[in-house]
Amino acid sequence: MRRTISLFNTLTRRVEPVVPVIEGQISLYTCGPTVYNYAHIGNLRTFLFQDLLKRTFAAGGHQVMHCMNITDVEDKIIRDSQGGLSADAPNEARHAAMKALTERFTAIFLEDLETLRVRPADHLPRATHYIPQMIRLVQNLEARGLAYAREGSVYYRIANLPQYGCLAHLDREGMQAGASVDADEYERDAISDFVLWKGAKPGEPWWDSPWGQGRPGWHIECSAMGMELLGERVDIHSGGVDLIFPHHENEIAQSEGCLGHRWVNHWVHGEFLMVEGQKMAKSLGNFFTLRDLVAKGVDPIALRYAIQSNHYRKVLNFSFEGLRAAENALKRIRAFRKRMEGEGQAGGGPWKEQLDPMARLEQAREAFWAAMADDLNTPEALAAIFTLINDLNAMDDHVALTREERGAVLAFLDESDAIFAAWPHETENLDAEVEALIDARRAAKAAKNWAEADRVRDQLKAMGIVLEDRKDGSTGWRRA
Ligand code: AMP
Ligand code: ZN
Repeated sequence: MRRTISLFNTLTRRVEPVVPVIEGQISLYTCGPTVYNYAHIGNLRTFLFQDLLKRTFAAGGHQVMHCMNITDVEDKIIRDSQGGLSADAPNEARHAAMKALTERFTAIFLEDLETLRVRPADHLPRATHYIPQMIRLVQNLEARGLAYAREGSVYYRIANLPQYGCLAHLDREGMQAGASVDADEYERDAISDFVLWKGAKPGEPWWDSPWGQGRPGWHIECSAMGMELLGERVDIHSGGVDLIFPHHENEIAQSEGCLGHRWVNHWVHGEFLMVEGQKMAKSLGNFFTLRDLVAKGVDPIALRYAIQSNHYRKVLNFSFEGLRAAENALKRIRAFRKRMEGEGQAGGGPWKEQLDPMARLEQAREAFWAAMADDLNTPEALAAIFTLINDLNAMDDHVALTREERGAVLAFLDESDAIFAAWPHETENLDAEVEALIDARRAAKAAKNWAEADRVRDQLKAMGIVLEDRKDGSTGWRRA
């Protein structure tokens, strides 16, 4: 059964059903990190919300094709990577220094996601691998009269795009015709022509281009990679609320200016993680990294739960009390799971006629899905689980649930865990089971039975296991 899921669309400011371009398939683009430092847990809140979104569609019977870029060339990256080089360092050395920094923090970022059980994206493009696509896109905009070159840089002429401002709901009257801005990040009161391609300044790494030596602006990176990897019509594009303007507004201008039609149907933005009323940000110095918290003994899955249990469109204040509450909530769900995994009894007895655990379970399941399908209302979805736990524990105290009833409850716990990834089935035998399936896949591949090999891979995927084919021919695995 495929479920229809509704999300708040920043473009229309309404909660609307997501109707994918191709039925049953969702294309999802999420703006990835700028890799010059550790991600803080504010950044990670956004990536966790996107994981929840993606898992909800997958659990709801959709195939999700997810692209998340890695921004590996950008002002802050250049600032932090070029310090050790002399003024006359060659371009190759500048690129190498930039790459050393971004590769280090990309690896750290991906490890953090794995620690938080965030499923990896299908495409993880590095911006520096798509420079030709970016150049072509800028040329295309130039040819359409939407871009102009000036002193080695190229700018977008926003006055020529009637829909400029549609996402951030900007007042077109307030736009400064003709003024231009070189920085990637700027505030709403500086609405103006923005930079697509930046002419190289001394001390910066560069690429050759029709406008001379330079590098892409930040906004063009996502338009080029998104169109290259997900195509001309994308179902969902997401980021934190700070990306609505200017980043996503500018992405729309670039992509739609070139395509001549709507690029993304649903724009979905996650609210901020705050600390004592202020946005958690590197520039404010009020941030924690995941590693800081793990070093303090915090269970990363409790952090995942603390974040997921709040609605993604509400500002969330980070606190250690919140983490403790999350740990307690998880203890309750996991204890209930253990209880349901225990032996059932034959059932019957005087209470049995009045109790209908299966009807109760079905009610909870429907309430859970109604909440998730309504703009990912996790507080309500989790409330449905806790009410079920209370009711079934009480029933089980009176008359033990049968094996079959327990099995049905466990199936629901698996179904909901496919989204929350916080109360999985813990078993000592899992490793042996996975190894056996990997062996079966290897045998199928050796026999060139590709269909069977794919089937086993899918079976493992459904168990939350991701296979990693290694260079030496062996196959490793990890939990998604
Ligand atoms: P960056 O690496 O700075 O490009 O940010 C990566 C993602 O984190 C973007 O989607 C931002 O919108 C998001 N973000 C930045 N700060 C916060 C915060 N305090 N709370 C939630 N998301 C944030
Ligand atoms: Zn982006």
